[in-house]
Amino acid sequence: MEVRVGLGFDSHEFDEDKPLVLGGIRFEGHRGLKGHSDGDVILHAITDALLGAVGEGDIGELFSDDDSRWKGADSRVFLGEALKRVREKGFEVVNVDCVVVADSPRISPAKRAIRERIASLMGIPPDRVSVKGKRKEGFSGEDGISCICTVLLMR
Ligand code: MG
Repeated sequence: MEVRVGLGFDSHEFDEDKPLVLGGIRFEGHRGLKGHSDGDVILHAITDALLGAVGEGDIGELFSDDDSRWKGADSRVFLGEALKRVREKGFEVVNVDCVVVADSPRISPAKRAIRERIASLMGIPPDRVSVKGKRKEGFSGEDGISCICTVLLMR
């Protein structure tokens, strides 16, 4: 058996004019995230972790910000392409672990919905997906949301 680990990170600034989408779940009434696509930092971090684990580059190489095809894109498309490459190499996803760093919105009430959505998008049971919310606790970074994620693959 061969195992691979992948690491992904993403960060987007808030954008008043966009809806907030995290892990494929829409947060009604909260400002969204700036970005060429829908700004879904969780799906972007998972996509990068998957690509990294199989040595297939990164999300910026595959879906460039300069390419108009990806303007306003649904990030599920990016995740789907990464999963296709994982499967083409004979790997399956063992588990995904994500930390979402955000002061607002609170992640915990939506954790279950996000886990279930990610699991369904990836075709794995929800107990193989973990989503943890973490506040910045005074750290004055950019006003936005970031996500760090690891994935484990095996074949
Ligand atoms: Mg991104």
